[in-house]
Amino acid sequence: MPQVYNWQLGRPMGYPFEEKHPQWQFAFVFNTNRCIGCQTCTMACKSTWTFSKGQEHMWWNNVESKPFGGYPQHWDAKILAMLEAENPGGQVWDVSQKDANIQPFGTFKGKTIFEAAPTHVGPEGAQTVLGYLPTDAEWGSPNIHEDTAAGGKWKPGQYGGSTQLPEHKVWFFHLARLCNHCTYPGCLGACPRQAIYKRPEDGIVLIDQERCRGYRKCVEGCPYKKVMFRPNTNTSEKCVGCYPRIEGKDPELSPNGEPAETRCMAACVGKIRLQGLVKLGTDGKWANDPDNPLYYLIRERQIALPLYPQFGTEPNGFYIPPRWVSRAYLTQMFGPGVERAIEQYSCPDRELLAVLQLFRTQRQILFKFRIEKGPKIAEIPVRMPSGQTKVQELFNDTVIGFNKFGKEVVRVTIEEPTFERPKAQHVNSI
Ligand code: SF4
Ligand code: SF4
Repeated sequence: MPQVYNWQLGRPMGYPFEEKHPQWQFAFVFNTNRCIGCQTCTMACKSTWTFSKGQEHMWWNNVESKPFGGYPQHWDAKILAMLEAENPGGQVWDVSQKDANIQPFGTFKGKTIFEAAPTHVGPEGAQTVLGYLPTDAEWGSPNIHEDTAAGGKWKPGQYGGSTQLPEHKVWFFHLARLCNHCTYPGCLGACPRQAIYKRPEDGIVLIDQERCRGYRKCVEGCPYKKVMFRPNTNTSEKCVGCYPRIEGKDPELSPNGEPAETRCMAACVGKIRLQGLVKLGTDGKWANDPDNPLYYLIRERQIALPLYPQFGTEPNGFYIPPRWVSRAYLTQMFGPGVERAIEQYSCPDRELLAVLQLFRTQRQILFKFRIEKGPKIAEIPVRMPSGQTKVQELFNDTVIGFNKFGKEVVRVTIEEPTFERPKAQHVNSI
């Protein structure tokens, strides 16, 4: 099997194809601390792409309540159990050596879905990618266990466990998900028809509907279960990254060809989403671009972490972990960067706080940001995860976002401006 380099694992790994990379990579950051589970993103996607006959069960974007919810049900628990069965006790990280460029989270010592595949011999023999096909029942009830909390013990007259920071004893959180347009996609690696490809211009992963024969190996091989089978066409379908918007080809949104965010990102009510394109070098590594908001949050600050990096697909969706949730659960889900990310998020410094304001302020994709310094406006005591109190200094800085062509398209201040409407002009005001 060819060897490819996976920066999230901090090491080379086996993959069915030789290393090959696009010029730009579709990527996104979700701040789980802000998601309210309203499903506006889910419906924005559904009403754009999957409203036709045969697509009734398809939710390319979904939001599930963790830890119990899942679409399909138990998708992550199942694949984690399969990996553990192939490598008992070995799915661990070595965090003794880190390097921001090549191994920011240390080194994953366990087996990925590609490395564990040869020893898992199922009814059809060993496959190129370790996976499974969910049952029809598992694809049903996509929002099952909504808002159902874990932890604590029920006692008559009181709820068990406390809900106090730094870690709630009773907790749940909303996990918004879509295709991660992975660097090393499991779906692509599993397809015997080579019908799945990664676009060289933006890294979006697509299925060629002419080549697809509906074998469903991609459904089996995607560890995130983000490929879905359509029975009336006998083909598989998946998120297309709203590619006409990314290309700047929507005449209404992008009269001058400016790349625009996808439907699910642009509709987000909770302002949890920031989508973008990151520049890759010819060697496939992320080009140093600290003024790009995504590069800044993911590579420079490491506050946004990949979802289940141990699967080995190098997903390009990144999450700011929810600060109240069990650290053991979060570390399993986002890898060993969790403590550092939550520490930073609990009391963001001046620069980080400014960049966090950019989420959902503009429909055009932001390629750069700049900060203009403002006066000090407050000092706030903050309880850190360690239990210590830190004083956060707040400055009324302005963060400015620029589109692909370097044009300023958004300007936000830390202090939200307020406007008072003159009463005489608004008789219906209360
Ligand atoms: S999330 Fe799944 S469907 Fe999307 S690129 Fe990765 S492996 Fe393929
Ligand atoms: S629209 Fe935003 S806040 Fe609402 S569920 Fe989706 S990601 Fe969460």
